[in-house]
Amino acid sequence: MFRLFDAVTEILRLRRQLSDLKSSVKHNAQVWSGFRFIEISLIGAKTFDELIDGLAAGFPQAFPEIDCITLACFDNDYEITRLLTQGGRQTPHPAFVRLEPDDLSILFSNFNRPMLGICDDSLQRTFFPNFEGILNSAAISPLIVQDRLIGSLNQGSCKTNRFSTSSATDMLQHLTAVTAVTVDNVLVHERLREDGLTDPLTGLSNRRFFERRLKEEVKRWYRNDGALSCMIVDIDFFKKVNDQYGHQVGDDVLKVVSTELGSDLRASDVLARYGGEEFVLLLPETDANHTVEIAERLRERIANKQDWECSVPVSLTISIGVSTLTAANLEQTHACNWLVRQADTALYKAKNRGRNCVVQAQESG
Ligand code: GH3
Ligand code: MG
Ligand code: MG
Repeated sequence: MFRLFDAVTEILRLRRQLSDLKSSVKHNAQVWSGFRFIEISLIGAKTFDELIDGLAAGFPQAFPEIDCITLACFDNDYEITRLLTQGGRQTPHPAFVRLEPDDLSILFSNFNRPMLGICDDSLQRTFFPNFEGILNSAAISPLIVQDRLIGSLNQGSCKTNRFSTSSATDMLQHLTAVTAVTVDNVLVHERLREDGLTDPLTGLSNRRFFERRLKEEVKRWYRNDGALSCMIVDIDFFKKVNDQYGHQVGDDVLKVVSTELGSDLRASDVLARYGGEEFVLLLPETDANHTVEIAERLRERIANKQDWECSVPVSLTISIGVSTLTAANLEQTHACNWLVRQADTALYKAKNRGRNCVVQAQESG
């Protein structure tokens, strides 16, 4: 009788064990497929924005109990912050966290393993600064590239037990390694792209980029029959700034001018450093009158500017030549040259009229 009872108990125990095993296998398969899903989105990322988007969208989709995901990086020279605020954005992606040099060393004695456990106030402020609810547990995984700690991949959950010291971390460590390599690759990619098309002093697009965009915009203008305007901006007597205060002040002033020129552009407008102390703007869907108004505003802004962010009393003016393609009555191939040449001729006239003024070229029609 007892034997039968023991056998039944044993069978029940084995059944429970089997069922636990089955749900553990199912759970692991779900975790694995979640990590796989995120990994694939990372591999396709070409820009830092795409990389962060992939993480921020992928994690909650794959793991509903994760309420906040961030990518934290040391960014001493603000390179990543700048990449994430291109195109007129004021703040970087909310899932990006810029780390201070000591932020991670407080957490880790051993950078090979993630830190899992309770998320207190200070942890939340450092690693999840934009999350508005209260996180109760977190996993902070160090990102290492070639033995160098570059940041951390951070998951936060409102659930207290979502991450604990006993959680398995091998799959997370794998994903973290992939993320670290992707961050590195994306940075190399973005740097290469920038080297070719960005002016290193001002951070604006360079002439090569402008010429590429000019072709695209002229093509669009030709199709849509709208207006496309161009401005060439030249700083008046800039040589005097260099002669009087030195080249370094000249460089600083160029940076301030470039910020002022870009301060209220639309996302579709193009601003580039055309060369030396000349800048060029391309304004799609903007007619001649409106372009002259914008040019006048820019001219006044520079002429009235007091604070040039340098220790010497700089005072500057700019001259602007404006040209506009209106009806599509020019051959596309000639239109690019025509637009820039006309703006240049108008600029020349502005200089001859005494500088600190805007001159509009004859219209194309
Ligand atoms: P204008 O009103 O006729 O335009 O006079 P200008 O002095 O501005 O024009 P000019 O063409 O005679 O001189 C332009 C000066 O811009 C000369 C050059 O040294 C300076 N420049 C060009 N690129 C840079 C740069 O990257 N940094 C600095 N500091 N100066 C630059
Ligand atoms: Mg010039
Ligand atoms: Mg000049």
